[in-house]
Amino acid sequence: MRPVLALVIVAMAMGMARASLSAAGPPDPILTVRVYQTAGLSSAIERRSLEEAARVLRPALVTVRWRWCTGPNPAPACDRPLVRAELLLRIVRRAVVHHGTAMALGTALVAPGRGVLATVYVGHIEELSTATRTDPAVLLGRATAHEIGHLLIRNAGHAPCGVMRERWTEEEVRRNHPLDWMFTAGDVVAIHRFWAQPDLPAGEPHRVADTSPSAASISFNRPSISLRRPTA
Ligand SMILES: [Zn+2]
Repeated sequence: MRPVLALVIVAMAMGMARASLSAAGPPDPILTVRVYQTAGLSSAIERRSLEEAARVLRPALVTVRWRWCTGPNPAPACDRPLVRAELLLRIVRRAVVHHGTAMALGTALVAPGRGVLATVYVGHIEELSTATRTDPAVLLGRATAHEIGHLLIRNAGHAPCGVMRERWTEEEVRRNHPLDWMFTAGDVVAIHRFWAQPDLPAGEPHRVADTSPSAASISFNRPSISLRRPTA
């Protein structure tokens, strides 16, 4: 399929998903994400990466409000208990554990009822951006959107294409094709369930079947194996 035609078809599918979801529930709710950045990034790079993450999430009917919880002036609300539609993002330098032989760019702790913690690893992302000669802030933002996507979909599974695919090769990062950095229509439907439904009871299996044939019920505290970068 020609790329332009594929983009049109995806855009149409996204439009259909948006139309049906808008009719079913409140449009474009605001997601608050508390940001804890200990990777030594400048505020300019951090803000640019979060702008990219918000840009990726926006077509999925999610408007993000970032709440800075580190630095000299953390938001007072950072001390309050989490409310629904509020997640945590850690931006750290390195992963403590490598998953298998691949290098993770990020992880998300996904629970059947609710997962709230996403982490992205700046060191690994910078290595990939250097190897591909791409903007590390943009790549960090895309990795952030991917991990937040796991929390919104409540599933550690991956889609075969789009921003929720599991592996990001150097060639894919380098070519910067728009379709590689979008949520699919199936992702959008799954994400909207986060907004439309109350939290599921703890321990209840939850399956999202429209994005990945390997998606399955998961257990609490299982880390995502997302964003592996091949070592070969
Ligand atoms: Zn993932």
